[in-house]
Amino acid sequence: MSQKVRVRFAPSPTGPLHIGGLRTALFNYLFAKKNGGDFILRIEDTDQNRFVEGAEQYIIEALDWCGIPFDEGPGKEGDFGPYRQSDRKQLYKSYALQLIEKGKAYYAFDTAEALDQHRKEHEAKGKTFIYNWHNRQKLTNSLSLSNEEVRDKIAAGEAYVIRFKSPENETLLLKDMIRGAIEIDSSILDDKVLFKSDGMPTYHLANIVDDHLMQITHVIRGEEWLPSLALHTLLYGAFGWDTPEFAHLPLIMKPVGKGKLSKRDGEKGGFPVFPLSWNQSEGYREAGFFPEAVVNFLALLGWNPGTEQEIFSLEELVDTFTLGRVNKSGARFDPEKNNWYNQQWLQIKSDGELAKIFALELDKKGISAEPLYIEKVVSSIKERAAFVKDFWELSDYFFQAPSSYNEKAVKKQWKEDTPQIMGQVAELLGTLSDFDSQKIEETVKTWIGEKELSFGKVMPPLRLVIVGDMKGPHLFDIMGLIGKQESINRIKTAIAQL
Ligand code: GLU
Repeated sequence: MSQKVRVRFAPSPTGPLHIGGLRTALFNYLFAKKNGGDFILRIEDTDQNRFVEGAEQYIIEALDWCGIPFDEGPGKEGDFGPYRQSDRKQLYKSYALQLIEKGKAYYAFDTAEALDQHRKEHEAKGKTFIYNWHNRQKLTNSLSLSNEEVRDKIAAGEAYVIRFKSPENETLLLKDMIRGAIEIDSSILDDKVLFKSDGMPTYHLANIVDDHLMQITHVIRGEEWLPSLALHTLLYGAFGWDTPEFAHLPLIMKPVGKGKLSKRDGEKGGFPVFPLSWNQSEGYREAGFFPEAVVNFLALLGWNPGTEQEIFSLEELVDTFTLGRVNKSGARFDPEKNNWYNQQWLQIKSDGELAKIFALELDKKGISAEPLYIEKVVSSIKERAAFVKDFWELSDYFFQAPSSYNEKAVKKQWKEDTPQIMGQVAELLGTLSDFDSQKIEETVKTWIGEKELSFGKVMPPLRLVIVGDMKGPHLFDIMGLIGKQESINRIKTAIAQL
């Protein structure tokens, strides 16, 4: 029987989740669900200096908002917990010691000052100091010192770290599901610290130990971790553990120019780079994006379905997603296109759902209206909107009479005989008992014909008095919705004012 797919999203709680991190989570989720597997959230908080209060909660809330919940993680304990590395602290050291026993790692006593000195000396000669096979015998560690010396130092409480002993002169064959095979000469690797003098593991050790203990089958993460793949592969080998499959997702690039998308790009371009607001930075949620739209555009950042289809629900993504269709090259972030996705999703949403959100905005303006009325308004204007926050500007005249009239339009449409014509229209409307769009349209049009007036003399000024401007959907629909008395009142007010 093949192993159950288990993937993890392993963010460090060092701040808000960047949109790239969210994409990593999404691709993990899609891969897990596509393959009937589990999606695990693991909080990698071993670096206490970079810990930020509230970041873990933020990550969980962001996943929730996107509708991609984890199966196991903090607060959802499964069989492999705890899921926060700080709560697993005590288990890492024994693994580091295991590697020392196997001759795959060693104690190093070099002080920060000594290492700094080496670095400076190298820099002065235009070189870079690398701690590895070529100099480790000359440095202060359990490979260069005698057993007694090492024992004494440890007994005396001298600070030490545990370093990985990177092999010399080996050709490493690394595998990545997206990039294929990668060859690396092990001689270029440095002896990375696995265990720190503060008693905490480094990212590398904790990450590998936890992936192993949590039975992770596929590691799907950002391209920035590709340089760690050699060490991680070596670590699995050193422990004698099965290596999971790796997939490194392409970077998300700036909208224009070179380089990775950054927070500053968002500030400059006026678009969010976080799913939810964080301090002064507005998130996608607060900017009025639907989670469906965010999931949709994120999925297409670096993945392609192989067809022309662009709009995908989460379920469709789960059905269609494969790592084989993830690109190697960077994916350009396109804020305009993201807005387009929201517009598309807004059209898909039901009028009822949109009306509920819009009602909250109306409420803030002190406007209350029947839910069904709001729904009808939404239905008539939504095709012009990308966001619910666009609704008010598109529909204010449904809720209040115009407080002013577009000046240019007045100049063009308000002729000498207009007040008289409008007065007659008001009278005509007064005779109607059924006041629905179709009935009004029939009546007004027949009347125009009988009076041998032109449409241009009646319709544009009528729109101007009802809406205050030349904008909006079908005029008779508007009048039908605002009702007979309101339509007549608006005509009368305009006659008095213009
Ligand atoms: N803690 C790492 C990060 O912050 C996880 C990298 C990985 O997935 O291995 O992204």
